[in-house]
Amino acid sequence: MNLWFTENHSPNVLFSIKVIEHLYTGRSEFQKIDVLQTAEFGRILTLDGLVMVTEKDEFIYHDMITHVPMATNPGIKKVLVIGAGDGGTVRELTKYESIEHIDMVEIDEMVVDVCKEFIPQTASKLDDPRVHLHFEDGLKFVRSREDEYDLIIVDSTDPFGPGEGLFTREFYGNCYKALKEDGILVNQHESPFYEEDALGMQRAHKRITGFFPVCEVYQVHIPTYPSGHWLFGFASKKFDPIKDLNADAWNELGLQTKYYNTDIHVGSFALPNYVKEQLKDAE
Ligand code: SAM
Repeated sequence: MNLWFTENHSPNVLFSIKVIEHLYTGRSEFQKIDVLQTAEFGRILTLDGLVMVTEKDEFIYHDMITHVPMATNPGIKKVLVIGAGDGGTVRELTKYESIEHIDMVEIDEMVVDVCKEFIPQTASKLDDPRVHLHFEDGLKFVRSREDEYDLIIVDSTDPFGPGEGLFTREFYGNCYKALKEDGILVNQHESPFYEEDALGMQRAHKRITGFFPVCEVYQVHIPTYPSGHWLFGFASKKFDPIKDLNADAWNELGLQTKYYNTDIHVGSFALPNYVKEQLKDAE
């Protein structure tokens, strides 16, 4: 039997992966959750039919969402992670002995349970004693926080369904308030390539620039995300991701990373002209 998983990458483009076995299917209060065993990408987590994480390419996303802010400010001690139920972002953060406390706010406990059972590659560090799991809406969680975090990482789903609130002006304003005076906000920033994703990306950029004095965008290559070309946002009250990069300090830590290095850190902020124009139009 020939079994394939297919996702719409745009209204006119389909992306298909050959499936060996459908390991899990379930529906939480928030979304449909599936885990597939595939030949090319290993195990895959999908939410509402969209690929979130694959064993083969998750290192690219998790390295770049985590190590870019950590290398910019090696003094980061207290981190808030929003979404990120697969655990990959927390796995990378726990590599830093200097981090004392991680609050992870995931709306859907079932995603965490399923990833612990089926995708230990990403979920393996969720039991680290510094990690405090909160199963609630990230939008509500940040409302009551003030001057508390050195870093907020928004590792969310796309701007529809449960993730919609994590792309709003209210949310970014509350993140600004929840950060200390030199705090950094990094968010998954959608893709510049297909029209619908690009509009979401521009909306997010416009809203973030309304609060933070430093607002940069950097790019990564993620084979299983629509078009493979994905962006992260780096917003901050003080730190510049290139001028303040402390490459020597980060390299002295001797951390093992499969994608991130301090050269690609700098290079990832060099954007194609069409993306620069999209960002300028949004500002
Ligand atoms: N790396 C993947 C990506 O970029 O698409 C996905 C990361 S992770 C699986 C995204 C998580 O965000 C999901 O588990 C989802 O349940 C969670 N999420 C969505 N909306 C949320 C909200 N409002 N508050 C907290 N977590 C939320």
